[in-house]
Amino acid sequence: MNAPVTPRIGMGYDIHRIAAGRPLVLGGVRFESDWGLDGHSDADVLLHAIGDALLGAAGLGDLGDHFPPGDPQWKDASSLDLLARICALLDQKGVRVLNVDAMVVAEAPRLAPRRAEMLANIAAALSVEVSQVSVKATTNEQLGALGRREGIAAMAVALVGG
Ligand SMILES: [Zn+2]
Repeated sequence: MNAPVTPRIGMGYDIHRIAAGRPLVLGGVRFESDWGLDGHSDADVLLHAIGDALLGAAGLGDLGDHFPPGDPQWKDASSLDLLARICALLDQKGVRVLNVDAMVVAEAPRLAPRRAEMLANIAAALSVEVSQVSVKATTNEQLGALGRREGIAAMAVALVGG
């Protein structure tokens, strides 16, 4: 009989500024766009929020601890690769991912047409089933900086067990 699983929850939040001429990558999916997100890595705000939620759930600190933004090693890094590295850290600790739920706050682009690709990317990076991952999107109703399209934010929660 398997030992009972102790569930642990973690949360993550991230925000990146919108910048002209930068790639727009969300959930490991490259969107056709003449603007993207500023940042040291590929600035995948969704994957950064998920990564922080997973690290928090496992008691492993935060993204900046493991991938310092000033470190040239992570310049233009693929955040899917970072997520897979986080998954390996959890694995070393005997922690497995039960489910992840995330929310992107953006006036644009529309995520729904690319959602299946995002879910597949995230599930593959975390070595879980697509059914264990959820990505939702909302606008900020044109309010505040996000509403003025100055940035994109993302929030995530992760449930893990060990
Ligand atoms: Zn970030």
